[in-house]
Amino acid sequence: METHQDVSDLRALIEASVLEVRGDGKAGGGLVLAFQSLANLMLRDPETHVQEWPFFSSARRGANIRSFLRISGRPIQAACEVTSPALSVLMDEGAARSVDFAEGVPPGGTFVLNTRHSPEECARHYHLSGRVVTIPGDDIGTKHLKHPIGNVSLYVAVTHAIGGFGIEEIVDSFLETLKKRRIPAAILERNRAALLASAEAVREGTYHEGAPEDHPVAPWTGYGTLPVGAQTPLRLSQSNRTAGYAPSGVRLRFEDPTTACTGCAHCITNCPEGIIRFAPDAERGLLVHGVDVSTFCKLCGECIAVCPEHLFQEVPFEDRWEEVLAP
Ligand code: SF4
Ligand code: SF4
Repeated sequence: METHQDVSDLRALIEASVLEVRGDGKAGGGLVLAFQSLANLMLRDPETHVQEWPFFSSARRGANIRSFLRISGRPIQAACEVTSPALSVLMDEGAARSVDFAEGVPPGGTFVLNTRHSPEECARHYHLSGRVVTIPGDDIGTKHLKHPIGNVSLYVAVTHAIGGFGIEEIVDSFLETLKKRRIPAAILERNRAALLASAEAVREGTYHEGAPEDHPVAPWTGYGTLPVGAQTPLRLSQSNRTAGYAPSGVRLRFEDPTTACTGCAHCITNCPEGIIRFAPDAERGLLVHGVDVSTFCKLCGECIAVCPEHLFQEVPFEDRWEEVLAP
């Protein structure tokens, strides 16, 4: 007899095995920031391990993107796409026109949608069976951030779905993530208002509107396939030596003298140049060993912003003019 793991209690999944999350959205819509913020919130518990993988092409605003997140009470060894998420997140309903965001979600799974529609309407429209959580994130973004961006609200809705967080830590952790991106104080306050408004606007229900055959796991086609609508596989430059784009007088430094790297992979997946060196460790997952700053590091600062262990720094560097000018 076939048995299924109970995937309805997301907290219990984290403690007992692993919570796998998949998100679908559009580039520029804030899905990556929402997942990063969620990862940072989870990492406040030193016993929790998190792995976060955004998956997108060089096409920017409007292209489909997918993000994957694994959260567990033990080290995470898997480093592949999430194909049967217990929690599926839809940031932008436009993405659902070309991808099935419910694909492979096991019976009893949870769906979180940024939408104006009610949970019941969404369950009927998308043929969903399980817990359906909705939030009108674009409207909340328009009101508080002057822009129809739903990532703040979606983050709050996902924390609601997982459960066990207080509103203060939900707000503090998100604002900490923004501060690392050097967001001005006035904007932080608007985000605080949007976070609090979102906590009041979450709705949910449990429905049985879909059959397992409505959303089967897609057949394996191998790595390298981008989400439908992500227009080009080109992402990394790898031909221009973009290290030359970095401001003069500063350089990136990676230092991990106490082996504090947790293998969360934030830096690896957010580096637009793919130059962060890592190797698998049997005990702790992927561990970062360094960066080749002489080739493509343009000091964009993404790794500095996302590393929860603060292992990347921008440091002064004396340009060696005499070597550059030598014949
Ligand atoms: S600053 Fe960090 S994220 Fe940006 S290119 Fe250099 S290594 Fe990659
Ligand atoms: S260097 Fe930092 S961001 Fe990168 S994997 Fe290690 S802990 Fe995570």
